[in-house]
Amino acid sequence: MIKTLKGKISVVYICLVLMIAIVGFTSAFNLHALSRSIDGLMVNNYKSINAANNMIEAIDGQNVAILNYLNNNDQKQINLFYKNSDEFYKWYNIEANNITELGERDYVSKINNDYARYVMSFSDVQDIRNKQGTDKATNFYDDKITNLYNNLKSDLKGLAAINEKAMFGGKDKVTKDSIAIMYIILGLSSVAVIGGYLISTFFINKFLKPIYILTESIKSVREGELHKEIDVDSSDEIGLLAHEFNNMTKRLQQFEYSSKGKLLTEKNKSIAIVKSISDPLIVLDTNYKFTLLNDACEDIFGIKETDVLHKHFLEGIRNGELYEYISSIYKEDNEKKSEKIMNIEVNEKDYYFNIISTAIKDRDLESYGIVVLFQNITKLKQLEKIKTDFMGTISHELKTPLTSIMMGVSLITDKKIGDLNEKQKNIVDAIREDGERLASLISELLQLSKIESDKAIFNMKQCSIIGVIENCVKRFNDQAISKEVNLYYEGSEWLPQVTIDPEKVSWALNNLVSNALKYINAGDEISIKVKAKNNEMYVSVEDTGVGIPNEYQKIIFDKFVQVKGGDLEMRSSGIGLAITKEIIEAHGGDIWCESKLDVGSKFTFTLPISN
Ligand code: ADP
Repeated sequence: MIKTLKGKISVVYICLVLMIAIVGFTSAFNLHALSRSIDGLMVNNYKSINAANNMIEAIDGQNVAILNYLNNNDQKQINLFYKNSDEFYKWYNIEANNITELGERDYVSKINNDYARYVMSFSDVQDIRNKQGTDKATNFYDDKITNLYNNLKSDLKGLAAINEKAMFGGKDKVTKDSIAIMYIILGLSSVAVIGGYLISTFFINKFLKPIYILTESIKSVREGELHKEIDVDSSDEIGLLAHEFNNMTKRLQQFEYSSKGKLLTEKNKSIAIVKSISDPLIVLDTNYKFTLLNDACEDIFGIKETDVLHKHFLEGIRNGELYEYISSIYKEDNEKKSEKIMNIEVNEKDYYFNIISTAIKDRDLESYGIVVLFQNITKLKQLEKIKTDFMGTISHELKTPLTSIMMGVSLITDKKIGDLNEKQKNIVDAIREDGERLASLISELLQLSKIESDKAIFNMKQCSIIGVIENCVKRFNDQAISKEVNLYYEGSEWLPQVTIDPEKVSWALNNLVSNALKYINAGDEISIKVKAKNNEMYVSVEDTGVGIPNEYQKIIFDKFVQVKGGDLEMRSSGIGLAITKEIIEAHGGDIWCESKLDVGSKFTFTLPISN
């Protein structure tokens, strides 16, 4: 039994070749036989006809020779007679050796006998003429020779006729044979064609059937039917392929089960983690419909996951400002703005959330959802408020006695209550200096607590930021010159207007420039740059001073943070940047710092551009 597909195809191929060979050999053999019978037909009969005609010609010549001899007894005619006799025998011998037809032999032996008698009778004529004269000889010719001559001629014609008849009969036979051969070849060719077609169709279908099954199974597997097994029982190459394919689908099935299981476990794990997060968390799809929300979200926002699942965000949480913020983040995909503190009122309760929203992306970085975490910082805000209020109260309480202390000091230093000796003067000067610093700290603290507790009044108006910057440069110009520092403004002449409280923004900017001047060496420079981008004004103060260590850059805006160490550690309170940040954020802007030790610092803040 042939097992391989190659072997099977070879067998079919050999069968077809054999069929073609049989048709070819049969045709060749028959054509050869046909050509031989045509040969026989042409050569043998034609030879006999030719011989008969030549023999007739010879006896005709002899007859003429006899007649001429009778007329003038000429030796020449005798020679001519015998010459024709030689010619006759030459053709007779050819004919005697070429007897092919029935009755031909009788003619030949009769001709032989008659001709012998014909030749003999010429000798008799010569005797009679010599002995009895021409008349007697002529009578003998008329009585005997003429009959012999006529008999011979008619026999020779009969001989030729037999062969002619045979020749025409042969032609018919050849025609019949060739028709028969044609039918044989046609028959064999038809058998070969039909047989070849049937064999090829049968085997092609037989060979292709498993391939069709294989193709169908591959399609099913592609559509996810991994349990599908290919039912091919042949042990040829296709059988092997099917076997390997079945092995592959089995492995895929195992893999699917294991990976599905893993995925399910991972999914449950993630859901459990999400659910256990104490802060509200929601997951939205690209159409802002809920796909997941945790228990904390249900508690705080008073919604049930089962009620809002696959419903729009606004159907669950009716807060337009929040929705606007989330959707803007999702559209812009702006990482810097993915975190925002918002004050939200839910069910008549005031909450502060630090909202962190992140777009969920697939492997091709296509977004397919958004995760929003509401970090509940309400308690923190409340504590901060208590602290701020406390700070405000303390500062206020300190301010009154400090004012009277400072008044007393100034009475003493003005010598209104008597002269002071040198030592007393020094002590009072030191008290005044520290008192002034304390007074400025208290004033800063009071300002900060006012801004933080929203008690500060902001006089917002549309103006150009360039005016604020120019005032700032003017204010610090002398200080910069005395410190040998190049302070300058760089930016376009025309910029869109901003809606700000110019006094507060000046304060913020002054803080940054004053800091830059504090932490800078002679020969360094401070540049103030402004640019408008994406509906925001970017203002930066860049210096080539001492720089801020990395670990401080994030906390530098917190209250009372001062960089430890360094030669240039100043008498600072650590309040300036906190006030600056509060002012900028109160305007809806943002502030950040980029710095490198011994290279310099760059503080940038943004302000919204007026519409
Ligand atoms: P203060 O009001 O006392 O200056 P700030 O809040 O303004 O306090 O600054 C806090 C700390 O940040 C400072 O003590 C200083 O170490 C650091 N700092 C601020 N600005 C710069 C700057 N441009 N270069 C280097 N350090 C700076």
